[in-house]
Amino acid sequence: MTQETPNFDLVIHNAILPAAELLEGSGPTDIGISAGRIVYIGATSGYSRASMDAHGSLVTPGFVNAHTHLDKADLLSRMTPDQFGGTLEKNRELLKSLKGNYSVAEVLARGKGVALEMLMQGITAIRTQVDVDPTAGLKALEAILALKQHLSPLMTLEVCAFPQEGVVRPGNRELLEEAIRMGADLVGGNPAVEPDHEERLRHIDILFEIAKTFDKRLDVQLDETNDPRHFYLPYYVDKVIADGFQGRATATHCISLSAVPDAVALPVIEKAARGEVSFIITPSCNLITRFDLPAGVSRRPSNSITRIKDLLAHGIRVALGTDNIRDIFYPLGNGSMLREMHVLATTTRLTGFGEAEKVFDMATVNGASLLGLDYGVEVGKKADLIVLPADSRRKALSHLPVAPYVIRNGRVVATNELSQKIAGDRQ
Ligand SMILES: [Zn+2]
Repeated sequence: MTQETPNFDLVIHNAILPAAELLEGSGPTDIGISAGRIVYIGATSGYSRASMDAHGSLVTPGFVNAHTHLDKADLLSRMTPDQFGGTLEKNRELLKSLKGNYSVAEVLARGKGVALEMLMQGITAIRTQVDVDPTAGLKALEAILALKQHLSPLMTLEVCAFPQEGVVRPGNRELLEEAIRMGADLVGGNPAVEPDHEERLRHIDILFEIAKTFDKRLDVQLDETNDPRHFYLPYYVDKVIADGFQGRATATHCISLSAVPDAVALPVIEKAARGEVSFIITPSCNLITRFDLPAGVSRRPSNSITRIKDLLAHGIRVALGTDNIRDIFYPLGNGSMLREMHVLATTTRLTGFGEAEKVFDMATVNGASLLGLDYGVEVGKKADLIVLPADSRRKALSHLPVAPYVIRNGRVVATNELSQKIAGDRQ
């Protein structure tokens, strides 16, 4: 760049930019930050109040965790040994008993602890689901809305009100509406929690009615099963188009899309692309889910991941989430988007040329556009950045490095120190 370099608040020297790592001959560069924004990219020796050397590491915008549950996070710490390892159906009942004891302060403390763990791992924006139902009432929402305010200097939180116990039963719809009035950003849902097919369709209808009334976007968890008979995505996509929600609706999970034949799946995907429906996938948590089986059936039920390659081939925006963190549904869940990317790439064989970069996009730019963030390593963009000790996105997915610096609004908000030494190395 030839423009005169201004003074900076922070300069990151020797940074590899995402995308640049694929260009022949492009080497590390410097990023100048002022007043919380990227103001210069290129070699500079301009004055800066602070500086750091990335030593040829990748510098990317922070990760976006598009689907998690901060209100349930770390519930493991309150479980007894006999409560581990249940099926999805049993876990939902167990959750109810734990939620009965919620207090706002307790949910806030667990949510904050796990959100900060995520920040340490380079996540600077989260869309969290929050249970809104007769068991939890509005306590969990109250806690997470307070957390959103509290953490705003460090990270962006988007809150999706999630009716974990359905919306058709009398009183539940009113609770969800109250959640939106209290400040939830999105209308969530999951038709599977209703008792029969007709009520599941009604569940979806009610979510659209609420989203219309309050002018909110939708993020609905659909078809979290390999059972091809449980397939509500087509109905959802039709509603998106009929009700004018193009670009404002997300479908999360959508696993049974993988269990139906091409002749059924592909027309739905084409329609979803036309309806600008976004998808969120949560690979590791999807793979661990188990279901009750009818008596006499011995097949080990395993879950799967949606048709990720078909979605990408149709130009659909796909974002990535970690889902549950150390709770009933996923005792080993953690807040690493790198680990989530690695699981996705491995289990869906997204390992070919250019595919690692697509996976990286899901956890970064795709999630950011879904949340409407001011985002990117470009002049003028907000300086929410992380340094990753790898010289390419592919290597980052392979090495799963710890981010030594997490930067928010141009300020270092988290550091991880790691020193490595090999005994006997005399170089
Ligand atoms: Zn979830």
